[in-house]
Amino acid sequence: MARKKLISANWKMQKGLDDALAYASRLAGEIPTDPGYDMVLFPPFFGVQGTAKALDGVPVAVGAQDLFWEKEGAFTGEISGDMIVETGGTHVLVGHSERRHVIGEDNAIIRKKLVAALEAGLVAVLCVGEKLSQREAGEAESFVEAQLDTALIELTPSDMERIVIAYEPVWAIGTGKTATPQDAVSMHKFIRGFVEARFGPDVAAVLRILYGGSVKPDNAESLLGEEEIDGALVGGAGLEIESFLQIANAIP
Ligand code: PEP
Repeated sequence: MARKKLISANWKMQKGLDDALAYASRLAGEIPTDPGYDMVLFPPFFGVQGTAKALDGVPVAVGAQDLFWEKEGAFTGEISGDMIVETGGTHVLVGHSERRHVIGEDNAIIRKKLVAALEAGLVAVLCVGEKLSQREAGEAESFVEAQLDTALIELTPSDMERIVIAYEPVWAIGTGKTATPQDAVSMHKFIRGFVEARFGPDVAAVLRILYGGSVKPDNAESLLGEEEIDGALVGGAGLEIESFLQIANAIP
């Protein structure tokens, strides 16, 4: 059976509350009852609750961009998985490239966050991807393999039912450079092969692997037309409802 595509928007540290709510209520009026794809918005954390409320009863899920691995305690500024659930979030990004390369999260931290997300009952979108220097050195696959290897350690096939993987080459995020559909497909196949080797063919067959990195309305069709690309994690083009919907509508 074909995997349902998943289109997601990561707003990063952008949009105030009014803007987030206006976007969500407009989106609620534009999305058909059964769009034939899944959609998730990742507003800044303060906007998760209002956005989720505005989308109540609409087939668009809402999630947070990050979480902390402990359930509660003296962790100033952090947000737990349970807090995300309490605000109506069902998804969370884990290991986004800006968390890895701007904030400095390593694979061990990302693994702890992934486990915490699963324990809270969230769907985790695990982001992986190489830097340009690693691609140019022919090390893209081994780098992504190491990211997966640590993040997915000791997880079970049933844990994998609540994991989506987003392949986001760092050099393509926010730069206007996009991986070619062939490059993306090749890495997606590599990731699926890794998951198959660790968890078996049934898990690999249903795993959704998204592509992220300067997805725009004008390249969406060629990327989303690939059977191996199960959707998109969109940054810049997800900030405007028109371009975000154009991307979703590019699904064949
Ligand atoms: C992202 O934030 O995950 C992303 C892919 O951003 P952009 O689409 O702007 O490259």
